[in-house]
Amino acid sequence: MSREELLRKRIRDVPDFPEPGIVFKDITPLLQDREALELACELLAEPYVDARVDLVVGIESRGFIFGPPVALRLGAGFAPVRKQGKLPWRTVQQSYALEYGEDVVELHEDAVTPGQRVLIVDDLIATGGTAVATAQLVRKMGALVIGKSFLIELGALNGRGKLHTSDVHAVLTY
Ligand code: AMP
Repeated sequence: MSREELLRKRIRDVPDFPEPGIVFKDITPLLQDREALELACELLAEPYVDARVDLVVGIESRGFIFGPPVALRLGAGFAPVRKQGKLPWRTVQQSYALEYGEDVVELHEDAVTPGQRVLIVDDLIATGGTAVATAQLVRKMGALVIGKSFLIELGALNGRGKLHTSDVHAVLTY
């Protein structure tokens, strides 16, 4: 079995969650399997092993699961990006458009320092809205986004096209 097949077998499709028409990619079977979990983290980090990453920024909430092990693999620290109102300290914010209305992501104002080399990590890229806003937030703080690494890319939604950079890595594409 290829490394990719091993991971694919451990991702469960849940139709109509959290709302009708959405097929939710449930990664909990993968997390339960030691070999798959280790492989997923290794493949998320692999293209960036020599990229001198200072900080991994993980996106709420499943970016908090994969971000820290990827950071350790790369010899980097970790900072969480959260939805508005969840972080306890002073924050820098970035809003982004949803299908209806808008949403806001935040980072602590001292989470990222100017000039740092940042890798953005999340479990999945769909429309790309969250990842674009996160990259804007990191750049607003004077740091350099050197890449974005996702376990799953939903290719039909072309989130990659929105990111305006070639440095987007996806372990699995659906
Ligand atoms: P987007 O901003 O549209 O790229 O959405 C990405 C965020 O929403 C990620 O943090 C994902 O965890 C979550 N997400 C979006 N669509 C799905 C899906 N089909 N299955 C699981 N998570 C999803």
